[in-house]
Amino acid sequence: MNHDANIYGLTYTQLEDFLIAAGEKKTKAPFIFQSLYRTQISSFMDVADINQRLKTQLAETFSMTLPQLIRQTAAADTVKFLFALPNTDSDKQDHLIEAVLMKQNYGSSLCISTQVGCNMACAFCQSGRFKKVHNLTAAELVSQMIAVQKLTDCTIQNVVLMGIGEPFDNYDNIMQFLEIIMHPHGLAIGKNHITVSTCGIAPKINDYAMHPQHGLLAISLHAPDDTTRSRLMPINRRYPVTELMNTAREYIRITGKKVMLEYIMLHEVNDTPEQAQLLADLIGKDKFHVNLIPYNATENFGFQPSSRARILAFYDVLKKNNITVTMRREFGASVNAACGQLRADYEHSIQQ
Ligand code: SF4
Repeated sequence: MNHDANIYGLTYTQLEDFLIAAGEKKTKAPFIFQSLYRTQISSFMDVADINQRLKTQLAETFSMTLPQLIRQTAAADTVKFLFALPNTDSDKQDHLIEAVLMKQNYGSSLCISTQVGCNMACAFCQSGRFKKVHNLTAAELVSQMIAVQKLTDCTIQNVVLMGIGEPFDNYDNIMQFLEIIMHPHGLAIGKNHITVSTCGIAPKINDYAMHPQHGLLAISLHAPDDTTRSRLMPINRRYPVTELMNTAREYIRITGKKVMLEYIMLHEVNDTPEQAQLLADLIGKDKFHVNLIPYNATENFGFQPSSRARILAFYDVLKKNNITVTMRREFGASVNAACGQLRADYEHSIQQ
């Protein structure tokens, strides 16, 4: 069976396989999934409607380990969590990850991390400063959700894979995670309530489109031309803008879904009206949605946020070209919630 010993890493099918191997009926699987994900039990002894022998067998086979809360910061509608993962790797480093809960009028969204560190080295990103040391397992991905729900008593309706790490650099674990959280007996998160955000690993976008468990797709574009984008995002040298956009169009064709293009507004780097026009030309009439994001300035990156006037001018060019565009409210700035910042802050404070 391809899973770790944490129960939260098990797909529904793997749970059925376990039951059969244990000499039980697989019809017990719904009770276990519902107890884990709806009642959110903390002990296998509390699983409803199964016998004592099976409870003991579950407890002897699996753990229900959740990440350990290190720090929690809250502002009006945003709560940020810094978690430590139980370290099973040999490097013995602390595995710190972040999750951000955003309470919106259409339900709560949780943004989770997919890796400890990230190898993509985007020039504007705090997380890219820490090399990847660990791909989160499906259990570690699911247990971020369970931990946040238990800590806040809130039900997560939307999941966004936009925290630390590049999800498509951890593809198999991500797809197992999606299968677990989508299952109707468990968290039952719908396809249209899950967004996977990538810096642009084109072949994995193709795989994702073809996968039965795909959710929505967001692409961190951040520039409409190769020169600017390669400066901001080294991945562009491997999968340039035209190839990336063609792959995204293929995703739209296969899934029928819109693709979100994330665009961080950086002063005099990617925010000119000419670049807005280039972006509009790149999109044409296809089903893309551009999300303009104010830059949350952090130290030592050499970038400044675009002024509101420059963002509005950029927005106007896109609108005039009939592009669907929104300006994202900057979640998290007040709770130090920019990508990787809480972890960086914590590490800084413990070094002092
Ligand atoms: S923006 Fe995303 S892909 Fe790029 S370095 Fe940061 S975490 Fe990695």
